[in-house]
Amino acid sequence: MKDRNAIHRQIKDKIAKAKTIAITTHVDPDGDAVGCVLALESFLKRYGKDVVIVVQHRVPDMYLFLGKEWIPFDASRECGHYDCVIVIDCPTKERVGNVIRLFDNSPSVINVDHHVSNSAFGDINLLDAEASSCGELLFDLLESFAVGLNEFEMSCTFVALSTDTGSFRYSNVTPRTFEIVAHFVREGVGLDALNQELYSRCPLKKFRLLQGFLGDVTIDVGSRSGWCVITQAMLDAAQAKRADAEGFIDLIRDINEVEVAIVLFEKEHGVTKVSLRSKGAIDVNRIAQRFGGGGHARAAGCTIEADPTNALARLKDVLKAGGR
Ligand code: AMP
Ligand code: MN
Ligand code: MN
Repeated sequence: MKDRNAIHRQIKDKIAKAKTIAITTHVDPDGDAVGCVLALESFLKRYGKDVVIVVQHRVPDMYLFLGKEWIPFDASRECGHYDCVIVIDCPTKERVGNVIRLFDNSPSVINVDHHVSNSAFGDINLLDAEASSCGELLFDLLESFAVGLNEFEMSCTFVALSTDTGSFRYSNVTPRTFEIVAHFVREGVGLDALNQELYSRCPLKKFRLLQGFLGDVTIDVGSRSGWCVITQAMLDAAQAKRADAEGFIDLIRDINEVEVAIVLFEKEHGVTKVSLRSKGAIDVNRIAQRFGGGGHARAAGCTIEADPTNALARLKDVLKAGGR
């Protein structure tokens, strides 16, 4: 990437001049998205800015322990005009979903991301595919303001780092990841309590969904892959939402005989949201990109205009062809 300090200076300059700032992230926000948006909102408010969070979907239940959420964007309303839009964790503009008009109305877009597939669509692009998470990029950006993060902002950033690294287990962890965590420990952030909230809680509806899921998983030893469809009926039976299936795909990926895990979510009629995970031999980002999606080599996703059965058949064809 271009000189990181120079990009930080450009962003700081843009923020200093802006009065109103909108922050956005991808649809179905995950821990990196939620943590970054909340940390940034809090920080910029303390910095004296008028800040609005404009995101299609609400904060998933599992992150409500942070004590702050936002109102999801009402598609019948205008997106509004802001001096600057900061978009986090989105490889493309389209990933923000129905708030995409934000970009038409803003004189400047700051794009902060760590996806290899990022199209550098911003006026300023803080991109680093080597960074574990956007939390890692954001922490360094905010540190350069010399204001310091408060406890809430550090907790949110920890959630971003921790969730995108599978609790610091994945190959995307960098020395910087642990330096930032060391800083949080030094500052007295209660990591034990945060870990408890993130990894040692299971709402009954999630457990019920998991019971159904495990019974439905198919493992194909020949192709070293495993998959499961999560239907609307399964969600309804467990009174659960798609976000409650967070982490289920890892259970398939972790099976010794499996190299690629696929979870297909039945969305509205004829539309399937796909999650892909790989142990490393197969680049699932390439597979997801074949269907207009993207992500990382070991974790990617896409939406396919087909029912889950047909979507799975198409994915298997691409897998058989080695991702081509
Ligand atoms: P998921 O399977 O939804 O947890 O996503 C895994 C990774 O792929 C995350 O980094 C997502 O941001 C990314 N991803 C998921 N769906 C898409 C998509 N449709 N387009 C681009 N990236 C995606
Ligand atoms: Mn994300
Ligand atoms: Mn991320």
